[in-house]
Amino acid sequence: MGDPRGFLKVRSRRELAERPVEERIKDWLDVHAESGLQPWTQEQAARCMDCGTPFCMTGCPLGNVIPEFNDLVRQGQWEDAYNKLSMTNNFPEVTGRICPALCEAACVLGIHQPPTMIKLDEQTIIDQAWNLDYVKPQPPQRLTDQTVAVVGSGPAGLACAQQLTRAGHTVVVYERHDAIGGLMRYGIPNFKLDKSLLDRRVEQMEAEGTVFHTNVEIGKDISWDELRSRYDAVVVAIGSTVPRDMKLPGRELDGIHFAMDFLPDATRRVWGKKPINDITAKDKHVVVIGGGDTGSDCLGTSIRQGAKSVTVLQIMSQEPTERPANQPWPTFARLYQKTSSMEEGGTYIYDTDSVEFEGTTLPENIHEIDGVQTEGFVSDEKGHVTGLKIVKVAPGENGPFTRQAGTERIIPADLVLISVGFLHPETDTLVDQLPVDLDGRGNVARNDSFATSQDGVFACGDAGRGQSLVVWAISEGRSCAAAVDKYLTGSTELPAPIVASQRPMALPRR
Ligand SMILES: Cc1cc2nc3c(=O)[nH]c(=O)nc-3n(C[C@H](O)[C@H](O)[C@H](O)COP(=O)(O)OP(=O)(O)OC[C@H]3O[C@@H](n4cnc5c(N)ncnc54)[C@H](O)[C@@H]3O)c2cc1C
Ligand code: SF4
Repeated sequence: MGDPRGFLKVRSRRELAERPVEERIKDWLDVHAESGLQPWTQEQAARCMDCGTPFCMTGCPLGNVIPEFNDLVRQGQWEDAYNKLSMTNNFPEVTGRICPALCEAACVLGIHQPPTMIKLDEQTIIDQAWNLDYVKPQPPQRLTDQTVAVVGSGPAGLACAQQLTRAGHTVVVYERHDAIGGLMRYGIPNFKLDKSLLDRRVEQMEAEGTVFHTNVEIGKDISWDELRSRYDAVVVAIGSTVPRDMKLPGRELDGIHFAMDFLPDATRRVWGKKPINDITAKDKHVVVIGGGDTGSDCLGTSIRQGAKSVTVLQIMSQEPTERPANQPWPTFARLYQKTSSMEEGGTYIYDTDSVEFEGTTLPENIHEIDGVQTEGFVSDEKGHVTGLKIVKVAPGENGPFTRQAGTERIIPADLVLISVGFLHPETDTLVDQLPVDLDGRGNVARNDSFATSQDGVFACGDAGRGQSLVVWAISEGRSCAAAVDKYLTGSTELPAPIVASQRPMALPRR
């Protein structure tokens, strides 16, 4: 039972202080100046009203037992709080930092006061647990003789692997990149999620018995059907990585890239690894097309790399600051919220569509070959982007956006980053070699128990759901593990917080 008067005594909500902008844009460290363990942490946790019906828990896809761990934070009982939290969440150090906190949108206190600080409590509990050495490997007491291959080491694959390893199965995770973590490693920038947090968790998983193979691409280095024949079950957790393109005139110009061709190298450089595409924003006018979280990550990264200017374009209007009537409590409303990167600089332009890319003049079209004048290009020189023509649009309530005549203008751009979402997973080799059904959007189709159309092959995370959130991926991975365990042994005691078709009350934009 929480403090029944806590929310009356402390009405305001505290946030973690951030480091000064001028200091933090010079490095890639966490933007925050302080940890969650502050003199006010316990009184903030006491604001939780311990509601009869804790709506916050319905907001969290993991079913985190929020009022109970809030009360343990209030009492400073860190070990019990950690035990409670780790019952439902494999990686609270990640969600406690970068989850959009769907739970807080559903907090009952949030109807008339700022909501309880659930996400920060989660971070503080797990940070304390690591600091106080409560986090220990949990190897299984006995091994089954069943083997599982998990393809993809994002939050879905990792959560699934950890659950199945702890249930006694022999689990091998295959990852095509050189490090474990999926988009937590090479998508989300280091200043939002320090990668040492992932390394620590991978060490724990190895100590429990999970085996990791990096730099192995299934479908290329080992075929999907070969993998299936080697293991008793296969889990497809390959994410949703095919980016949505902008097919505008001038798209072929140099200097126009997808956000995910740009972001991973920034993290690679921080960790002393060789960049792959070697794209940098240094001394460039950067235009980011797409104002979601990925666009914001491109902004913060470009600023740290020393861009001359960064402009982020959003086709939609700026979000409202108060809940609109059509997004009532307890849904996750799309409200305007400044990200830490937005505080660091850059300009957002709303209600704006892109028309065409402008570029340097292409090379002369006439060439002399063996004394004969010939039309047509003889090299693959394409010219480089120099600007982007944009136009104002009228907000489309339910229909398409309408371009406003006479509002066209060109903004300078030496580097354009396309960040308008992702279409579906990369499934070419999978479908060729182990023909699973896809759904209408190109995601891997599965039933509510995460089983694909191929016997013994399961799919979880963005690969089945489409681009979503880390918290959904962990929830999918846990539920998928329960389904695989049942498939292998006939029954399961592993928790399954969701079924595959379960959808959020509203999704933030990527
Ligand atoms: C830039 C960016 C920022 C984001 N920020 C946030 C945020 O702040 N908060 C949040 O909650 N969510 C965020 N997301 C979304 C979140 O990262 C994803 O929803 C989540 O990581 C999905 O997890 P997953 O395990 O399904 O897939 P992923 O994390 O995509 O992992 C899939 C893994 O599978 C590997 N793989 C693919 N094919 C193969 C193969 N054939 N063989 C071997 N390995 C393979 C990939 O290399 C990858 O490592 C962000 C996404 C992006 C792109
Ligand atoms: S995982 Fe996200 S939604 Fe769930 S309790 Fe933590 S912050 Fe809230």
